[in-house]
Amino acid sequence: MNIHEYQAKEVLKEFGVPVARGLPAFSVDEAVAAAEKLGGPVWVVKAQIHAGGRGKGGGVKVVKSIDEVRQEASRILGMTLITHQTGPEGKLVKRLYVEDGSAIDRELYLSCLVDRATSRVAFIASTEGGMDIEEVAAKTPEKIVTLTIDPATGFQPFHARRIAFALKLQGDQVKKFTKLISGLYKAFVGKDASLVEINPLVVTKDGDVLCLDAKMNFDSNALYRHADILALRDLDEEDPAEVEASNYDLNYIKLDGSIGCMVNGAGLAMATMDIIKLYGSAPANFLDVGGGATKEKVTEAFKIILTDPNVEGILVNIFGGIMRCDIIAEGVVAAARELHLKVPLVVRLEGTNVEKGKAILNESGLAIIAADDLADAAEKVVKAVKEAA
Ligand code: ADP
Ligand code: MG
Repeated sequence: MNIHEYQAKEVLKEFGVPVARGLPAFSVDEAVAAAEKLGGPVWVVKAQIHAGGRGKGGGVKVVKSIDEVRQEASRILGMTLITHQTGPEGKLVKRLYVEDGSAIDRELYLSCLVDRATSRVAFIASTEGGMDIEEVAAKTPEKIVTLTIDPATGFQPFHARRIAFALKLQGDQVKKFTKLISGLYKAFVGKDASLVEINPLVVTKDGDVLCLDAKMNFDSNALYRHADILALRDLDEEDPAEVEASNYDLNYIKLDGSIGCMVNGAGLAMATMDIIKLYGSAPANFLDVGGGATKEKVTEAFKIILTDPNVEGILVNIFGGIMRCDIIAEGVVAAARELHLKVPLVVRLEGTNVEKGKAILNESGLAIIAADDLADAAEKVVKAVKEAA
């Protein structure tokens, strides 16, 4: 789960991480009131959306008067902000953050994430902050340093010093940075984050070290023990179909192809998507209905797939292990009837009660195309979509 910059800064502050002072605002008047409270003389008006690159897209403005705060707040609030992370459709700005303007000397990059290769928490740091870290990684990889933390020892002062030197911090800055990064690590572990990214981390003209931007992602599987973090969820920032799916405990991710997929098990879902590609089409979604899907859950999954106007055909690929094929078949038939399914539907069932399941599909009178194996199913759905077009 993702949260807004101002929320991430609140979380980090709890752990003693220095951030610029700021206040969120949901209207232009609130933004002006926030600026008056902060006192200036320099403010930054920042769009709050779940995407980076706001500065380049016109969503971050440094201003020097209350009039300008009003002007920029009016411009940014309600704008559709397009950045390299929002896609071409952009995102509507509904929240602002008004922050103290910092006199920046240097912009650095610091992030903390779970490194899957080493199964450890890792820090990534670079002197080239403020810009696209992907570009730095591609063009000047030597300017990026990585440090993994041994879970047995946890974060140690020498880790902090090593990164501080890589960032070319000096004297007192090293001490300030040590406090900052230790807090960041504590926040990361304490809140079950999967990513904390500070870009930029800045050294101010007065020699202070603080976070000017903050992005935090959390492990969804750990949210049950962080009610405070879950409360920060902003459904406006999420895909409506994905929100609906999460209400039914379905793992759904919208993609941009035309074949809707309903599969049980994440691995099988990945394999199904791959094989659709192999046969020349592309999946419209990733959908794992899970092991214990009921008839109702299957019906909901179908509805969610069909809310996507790009879906031209559906492939159901179920391995009945814990799940029984006849239950799936009943769900598929009920959903196809209820929704007056118009696109071709290919079903491949295997495993427990497969014969019963196939019988239910055959006797339903619906135009369901049965498939024998994964390759056969993919080939049939791609072909059926072509013929229907
Ligand atoms: P994004 O990464 O989405 O573009 P940032 O918060 O990183 O948004 O802001 C973009 C740039 O704006 C920063 O790299 C920094 O140069 C400047 N900036 C952001 N916040 C402040 C601030 N409080 N004071 C001064 N400059 C800022
Ligand atoms: Mg940034």
